[in-house]
Amino acid sequence: MITRLSHLFLRTLRDDPSDAEVASHKLLVRAGYVRRIAPGVYSWLPLGLRVLREVERVVREEMNAMGGQEILLPALLPREPYEASNRWTEYGAGLFRLKDRKGNDYMLGPTHEELFALTVKGEYNSYKDFPVTLYQVQTKYRDEERPRAGILRGREFVMKDSYSFDLTDEGLTASYQAHRDAYEKIFTRLGVKYVIVSATSGAMGGSASEEFLAESEIGEDTYVRCLESGYAANVEAVKTVVPEAIPFDGLPEAKVYDTANTPTIDTLVDWANGADLGRTITAADTLKNIMVKTRLPGGEWELLGIGIPGDREVDEKRLEASLEPAEFVMITETDFKNNPFLAKGYIGPKALQANGVRYLVDPRVVDGTSWITGADEDGKHVVGLVAGRDFTPDGTIEAAEVRDGDASPDGAGTLVSARGIEIGHVFQLGRKYTDVFNVDVLAENGKPVRPTMGSYGVGVSRLVAVIAEQHHDEKGLRWPAEVSPADVYLVIANKDETAREGAEGLAAQLDRAGLEVILDDRKASPGVKFKDSELIGVPLIVVVGRGWADGKVEIRDRFTGESREIDADSAIEEII
Ligand code: ATP
Ligand code: MG
Ligand code: MG
Ligand code: MG
Repeated sequence: MITRLSHLFLRTLRDDPSDAEVASHKLLVRAGYVRRIAPGVYSWLPLGLRVLREVERVVREEMNAMGGQEILLPALLPREPYEASNRWTEYGAGLFRLKDRKGNDYMLGPTHEELFALTVKGEYNSYKDFPVTLYQVQTKYRDEERPRAGILRGREFVMKDSYSFDLTDEGLTASYQAHRDAYEKIFTRLGVKYVIVSATSGAMGGSASEEFLAESEIGEDTYVRCLESGYAANVEAVKTVVPEAIPFDGLPEAKVYDTANTPTIDTLVDWANGADLGRTITAADTLKNIMVKTRLPGGEWELLGIGIPGDREVDEKRLEASLEPAEFVMITETDFKNNPFLAKGYIGPKALQANGVRYLVDPRVVDGTSWITGADEDGKHVVGLVAGRDFTPDGTIEAAEVRDGDASPDGAGTLVSARGIEIGHVFQLGRKYTDVFNVDVLAENGKPVRPTMGSYGVGVSRLVAVIAEQHHDEKGLRWPAEVSPADVYLVIANKDETAREGAEGLAAQLDRAGLEVILDDRKASPGVKFKDSELIGVPLIVVVGRGWADGKVEIRDRFTGESREIDADSAIEEII
């Protein structure tokens, strides 16, 4: 297609918008890609919409390739499903709520776990239907406290959200990995420099939730990275691992915790057998099972329950109730690979859940300090330290900040920190939402089985800003070819009629060759045209100018800034 600038609905601006601080925001407004309507609410003009659609195309291609099926749910949602999950309340001021004419409560969807769980419940009822991954590319609404940097943090924005439904934990792990792989492909194709960081406690080193952060100094997320091992985590997640982490060789060594106030494995086994478990526990069992214990103010330990993988009957209520006066500790060793969520369900204190501590908190409490221990999927054990005071019953952990220079939780080296912009998030949800809506299907043995879910988001509109942020110079935008609003930007910089005809001919040839062409056929000075060509940021600029009389056109590479003259006759072959 040939897009003529003489017709295109476009006004570029000479000056930066007064409300813009970051480069991508300034340039996207100046180059006529987006326009502000209200805080965090933007319109997409033709060029901006093209880039947005290109990002969507790449996302769809990779989601389809990994087996995802696209559907589209409404953004206008009734209150009830979110009431059932408690998110109508939990979401707080971030949720846009409204009423219909009859006074019924509605909301604008900020994310759609509830609706996808209900949608699957509505259609599927047999194990034969699983696994299934559904996704949508949809407008989301969040009343962000601080909308920022134009489309980077909007209150209305486009997200690709997908949801996987599996019947087994292995299945969930595979679906999660498939999304993670697809996301790597998406961000690589989009030309984004990114890191994958653990979004859960760094000490755990696992993968129940990871964020994709685009490297950027203007990012709102801070992450730490260990250059020696490649370990990387969002500092929000590592806050629970403070401050010096040391390697730990595994639970069997817990036997060495033979100090006055540290129970040994044998003691724990005794406790377990002291509780009415209906069977005898051995030391070997403790490596597979979960024990939950609390220390009462008097200093005594009380075993609250023991859980067998797959069994959800641990005395959670009792544990919660005892938290107020008690100092909380949980001990567990679980078959993590197959049951990444097992422990989460038992931990009880919101603190641990909120901070993504998945399992294994060792009962050693020495001088008011607790140890958090975990293992990554390779079985490598790591340990972090949390001050006793940091466990608070209301669920906050106010652990010390992670600093530079701190030891990496895997013991491989030191941490360095940098900033990033969250562009994607992959998350093993487990049965949280299928539990809320009793989503059960019939297993092969005729018994009901409850699907386990993953949820996965990509910030589609945010990516337009992120790409602009990572690819620009002082003159303007520089789009990677995959998302550029055109392949070639052809400037007519010669008033001569034959030059104009020559440029039209070249544009037609490029169009026939399947390239997207922007043709600057405006009656404007070459200076104005060149400035706009750089501002708009198409990767290849072709100039039909003075050289035309000698049979030459100029080719400019917007990325390298290089330009050279080539024969007009062979221009088409050179460009394609
Ligand atoms: P953030 O930490 O930036 O607030 P989030 O963790 O709240 O993001 P998720 O709920 O994980 O976001 O949503 C999935 C993706 O949607 C994010 O990774 C991000 O790329 C994008 N996103 C979230 N909020 C916004 C927003 N206000 N504007 C644009 N994109 C957003
Ligand atoms: Mg957010
Ligand atoms: Mg986030
Ligand atoms: Mg997130």
